[in-house]
Amino acid sequence: MKIDSTSHQTARDEMYRMLPSVSDLLLAEPIAQLLPSRSHDVVVNAARAVLDRLRDEIAVDAHSQKTLSDAIANLPAAIASQLSRPLRFSLRPVINATGVVLHTNLGRAPLSRQALDHLVRIASGYCNLEFDFKSGERGSRDVHVESLLLAVLGRNAGIADPASTHRAIVVNNCAAATFLALHALAKDREVIVSRGELVEIGGGFRIPEILAESGALIKEVGTTNRTRIEDYERALSTNTGLILRVHRSNFSMDGFVAQPGLRELIALGTRAGISVFHDQGTGLMQPLESLGIDGEPTLHDSLRQGCGLVAASGDKLLGGPQCGILAGRRELIDPIRANPLFRALRVDKLTYAALEATLAAYLADRSESIPIQRMLALTASEIRHRCEEIVRWISAADLKAEVIPVESVVGGGSAPRARLGSFAISLRHANLCADDLLAALRRAELPVVGRINEDLVLLDLRTVDPASDTALAEALNRLPHSEPKPVHEARSLP
Ligand SMILES: *Cc1c(COP(=O)(O)O)cnc(C)c1O
Repeated sequence: MKIDSTSHQTARDEMYRMLPSVSDLLLAEPIAQLLPSRSHDVVVNAARAVLDRLRDEIAVDAHSQKTLSDAIANLPAAIASQLSRPLRFSLRPVINATGVVLHTNLGRAPLSRQALDHLVRIASGYCNLEFDFKSGERGSRDVHVESLLLAVLGRNAGIADPASTHRAIVVNNCAAATFLALHALAKDREVIVSRGELVEIGGGFRIPEILAESGALIKEVGTTNRTRIEDYERALSTNTGLILRVHRSNFSMDGFVAQPGLRELIALGTRAGISVFHDQGTGLMQPLESLGIDGEPTLHDSLRQGCGLVAASGDKLLGGPQCGILAGRRELIDPIRANPLFRALRVDKLTYAALEATLAAYLADRSESIPIQRMLALTASEIRHRCEEIVRWISAADLKAEVIPVESVVGGGSAPRARLGSFAISLRHANLCADDLLAALRRAELPVVGRINEDLVLLDLRTVDPASDTALAEALNRLPHSEPKPVHEARSLP
């Protein structure tokens, strides 16, 4: 925190006043010369972008009067260079040093090398998206991942011949999958759901709203903390369409709580001739107990227990592209596939390609090729070693860096209680408070996103691809306001 914030503010205001206006700039000779060859708007936008950058730098005290005067004298050149830059994309890669493995704001699961290679090969030319090689006629896009999904799920769930009893389809995301299933199977019919599961999963996905929009009638049972199998039993009627179970993926409840197991719900459903639909959410394909994460069910657990239909995300613990998977018994998937909304929610060839390659890795027992599986499995000592290496590369004299133990989390609304022992680089800057240091890291050419704990910036390397370690060290060494260390103390980057 700034000790003398008023005088800092006055200094900043003075610097803002030193900046020329865009119209003044356009009159300056070197910039006026640019105008005949470039449209007026393009030059104005470039001038605005350069001035905005200077304002941002003033806001974080990155300038003295002297450096600002130099920058202002250099404005024509800066604008000319801005004009010759390729358009900067809105979507940019970032280094996720938050330690949150499935960071929803940072794009959830990164794709595996195999998924990317397959995606590039398929998307850079034509492909058999809807083409049947045997007949030479129109085929169906749903076939591409169905057999792989059923093979992986069937093997893990112990279903002997899944292709004869089960089906699987893919839509845009798990919210769409849940909505579509409720709409196709339970429109104008009652869906029995526990009050403890009428939850918000995140990003505005609220189960009661999805149910209402789908046209299904909500039949709430039990209370927030306790629901018994008898509650479900009493709620059954001739108009029951489905029993819904929603995985509490992003929160946990402790204390005086009870809910029947999935198996009990399925047994009740079987007696009553009603299917159980499990919004499982995470798409977990292999148990996490060996990593010390307990109580997170896999997608095939639900099918093994006899669940008629499951829904899951492709880009959470499954580690694939954003999509929603619906897998279950034929008689439930077939009407969903025939519903016109399925066409509206369908996915493109990029998604099929990335999902197919991700599933193939599970089928071949090569799940370590999936980035999020690798990150979850990293040991604390491997992470510590990389932190220490980066600290040795730091050559900014005013940056104090240490390696400290921290805990990473799974994130993305998954395994909310799990904590993974990890290590982080903790940073303190001589001239910047923690908030400003964090902001400066976000402005790096390759932006770095970290977190703050007790006035220190923490960079947890569990979620940083080791291939980006050098880039991370470079971003630290190029912070504004930083003086290089005396030569004998610095160790250069490899
Ligand atoms: C994450 C999640 C969803 C929403 O999935 P999206 O793919 O983000 O649409 C729905 N249900 C559960 C249980 C979830 O965990």
